[in-house]
Amino acid sequence: MVWFDKWNEICPLRSIVTPRLIANAGFNMNTKLADIFVQGEWRWPANWFARFPVLLNVQDFEIYSTCKDQLQWRMRQGSLTDFSTSVAWDNLRRQQNEVLWPKVVWFPQAIPKHAFLMWLVVQKKLKTQDIMSSWNSSGNANLNLLCCSLCVSGPDSHNHLFFECDYSAQVWSDIKVLAGMESIQNEWTDIF
Ligand SMILES: [Zn+2]
Repeated sequence: MVWFDKWNEICPLRSIVTPRLIANAGFNMNTKLADIFVQGEWRWPANWFARFPVLLNVQDFEIYSTCKDQLQWRMRQGSLTDFSTSVAWDNLRRQQNEVLWPKVVWFPQAIPKHAFLMWLVVQKKLKTQDIMSSWNSSGNANLNLLCCSLCVSGPDSHNHLFFECDYSAQVWSDIKVLAGMESIQNEWTDIF
């Protein structure tokens, strides 16, 4: 569309031409470039050249009526490519190094709730009591009374919950045998 698309350096025209002017000139918001540049002539209203001298700089060019309009995406690196949401997203997103754990967290038979919890675990983002007490700026003493509900001997944390707690350590040592992981250290990095 002639007002919104970037078909020339001076575009988008919408930034200089108001909808009222567009309507007064007999155009509408959906007017196409082919409606304005007809048979080698620009159909701007005569007074627009005085009002918007930049229009005088717009070069003539050929419009290929057999070509369909195409959406393109300008990559961060500057090159143009066919637009798709996946291309745009991949180009926009913050890219980070690949991590080792995706297949531990997401795999075809994974239970969604477990996968979500696992994802929190690998990023050490479980809402454990040590983390919650660091949020406690109001001096609410109740958080200091929190303790691990498995062993009741102190506040829980990622390390406590999985390997330091007497109860979970015992569960893990049995599971480890069943899973054939006896040689693995009790560290998340080793388990991954
Ligand atoms: Zn415990």
